[in-house]
Amino acid sequence: MAEDEKKKIVLNKNDFSEWYNDVVEISGLCDKRYPIKGMNVWTPYGWKVMQFIDQIIRRECDDTDHGEVNFPLLIPKTEFQKEADHIKGFDSEVYWVTHGGLNELDVPLLLRPTSETAMYPMFSLWVRSHNDLPLKTYQIVNTFRYETKMTRAFIRVREIHFFEAHTCHASFEDAEKQIIEDCAIMDKVASELCIPYMLVKRPDWDKFAGAVYTIGVDTLMPSRRTLQLGSIHQYKENFSRPYDIKYEGSDKEFHYCHQTTYGMSERLVGAVVGVHGDDKGIILPPKLAPIQFVIIPILAKGKTEMVSEASKELLEELKGYGFRVKLDDRDVRPGSKHYDWELKGVPIRVEIGPRDIEKGSIVFKRRDLSTKAFIDRKDLKAECDKALEEVKDELKRRAEEILDDGIRDVDSLDDGVKLLKEWDGIIRTRWCGEMDCAREMEKSLDKTFLGFPLDTNGTGDLQKEDGNCMVCGRPTDTVVYLSRSY
Ligand code: ZN
Repeated sequence: MAEDEKKKIVLNKNDFSEWYNDVVEISGLCDKRYPIKGMNVWTPYGWKVMQFIDQIIRRECDDTDHGEVNFPLLIPKTEFQKEADHIKGFDSEVYWVTHGGLNELDVPLLLRPTSETAMYPMFSLWVRSHNDLPLKTYQIVNTFRYETKMTRAFIRVREIHFFEAHTCHASFEDAEKQIIEDCAIMDKVASELCIPYMLVKRPDWDKFAGAVYTIGVDTLMPSRRTLQLGSIHQYKENFSRPYDIKYEGSDKEFHYCHQTTYGMSERLVGAVVGVHGDDKGIILPPKLAPIQFVIIPILAKGKTEMVSEASKELLEELKGYGFRVKLDDRDVRPGSKHYDWELKGVPIRVEIGPRDIEKGSIVFKRRDLSTKAFIDRKDLKAECDKALEEVKDELKRRAEEILDDGIRDVDSLDDGVKLLKEWDGIIRTRWCGEMDCAREMEKSLDKTFLGFPLDTNGTGDLQKEDGNCMVCGRPTDTVVYLSRSY
């Protein structure tokens, strides 16, 4: 998009959907003009942000002894069809390759929608004895799903930048421990993104195709709709049986492996955009920002050279400390520069003018605040570290406020309906377990079952609370969330 076209767009986050669709493009994260619906182009700035997120995920996976793999994109139809539920879940979403050149293929191939059916035939060759376990792998690749719903950059696309971890274990208990570890990884990733989240066990009718259970990792967008950031699945032996993944135990008997998977995607970028951005553009958490500091020289007549020299020195010094810095010495008005870097969400703007140079100071303008701060040049490194940390804390605090404010506990259907006339968000209530009551809740509240929230204590336990089913009034301690989601 041309610069002058960009500047004609007025961003207004109160109209979230339009704001989001505009801001992802004019901030330079992606280009949506590629001639296939739902397949966008990662532009350099957006791809950098994604790469920084991938780096955080890689670091956490490597720290927990996962090995990175890279499997082929194409999966034979014969392998894809081995697990019945899995097929049902994905059949309508896969892209098929039916020809090689002019020849029709004997066995059609599909583009991976996820990689269970690519990996597990190989896992059955890799796993032999209990000494091979646990097998912990992950890959960061593109996956493909033929979405028929309306597409939205990073949130609902047809080619998805995807992280998937696949593990094999000797027992159900070991697999359960893996799921606790997955939740801990999520916590570290989310912390760098400054995105608060909920762990919500999905109801049976909404679990991953082939899973015994699924834990969704959800956040709340300012539109008050939930966005699934990731999902963690317990498979037990559901895949190891059809794919014949067995190990010889110390008892000399063969046993099927217990398996788990964990997926996250470019939706993390969508969450960062949606949760942190404002009417000026996106706001990037420091760890994800391709540019953490942008230096704007304030030129004055007769002192241009001095300021320009000092700016270059500052640039080199900041780079030397390992920060990602850019010097914006374009010949345009400062206001125009401010506009551009605010739009792109650079955490800190550094201004340097003749008076600052004389005083041995510089000015910091944080993207998340409207005020400026004078910084003593002597304490530069410490002040930079501190400022980035403060941006991170403030983004987290604001995002947590959005989430806290977006969940309300309701006892009865009437109260829920009344509340939703003046407020929107996640309804927290109690459910007896009867399908009729679930359907009634969904219909009356015009929301869907998100699922059963987990305690935040890291044990994987569900929240329990004595009360009554919202619909029939029967006593129950099962807590449920209902929401509208992306
Ligand atoms: Zn009920």
